[in-house]
Amino acid sequence: MFIEPHFSRKGEDKGPKTGWIEVICGSMFSGKTEELIRRLNRTLIARQQVEIFKPIVDKRYHESDVVSHNENKIRSTPVQFANDILLLASHSEVVGIDEAQFFDNQLVEVCTKLANSGKRVIVAGLDMDFAGEPFGAMPALMAIAEFVTKVHAICMVCGDVASYSFRLAQSKEQILLGETQEYEARCRRCFTKGLKEQNANV
Ligand SMILES: [Zn+2]
Repeated sequence: MFIEPHFSRKGEDKGPKTGWIEVICGSMFSGKTEELIRRLNRTLIARQQVEIFKPIVDKRYHESDVVSHNENKIRSTPVQFANDILLLASHSEVVGIDEAQFFDNQLVEVCTKLANSGKRVIVAGLDMDFAGEPFGAMPALMAIAEFVTKVHAICMVCGDVASYSFRLAQSKEQILLGETQEYEARCRRCFTKGLKEQNANV
């Protein structure tokens, strides 16, 4: 389990605390948002100033809550562009960002600026899209983050460890929001098998 890091400073250094970036990634149904909420709840209990953002594209559940599939929730601000976060988060110590894969690529620069200004930035998102390709700004965020946690689901076909989001519906759109009817968490073997079957049916 992820434990908050402690950056110790030499005696003379009385400057501001350092910031850092954490990424929580994985497939659908892997518990990314639950892990984000767990970390953010701990910061709230510690009375740290927290702001949470998500892209406006994700309207699946509630307009202004980060909601995970098991109904844990925490208030969040929907924003359209990654750059909006910079202004809105200026007074917070901790910045949470959910569904990060749906943000524009500016998110990488935004997270860097936030962390450089001494903030703890926790980003959760899908690392791969339905085709198994790296999703949006996630690969770059994973590269620049101090800490990367990859969480896993269970393959809904065979029960092995799953890291892919398999789309049951035939659509080539990268963004197709959905729930259990449209997607399955799958292991590598069942994911590639499913893709082959879909391609054979086209
Ligand atoms: Zn499987």
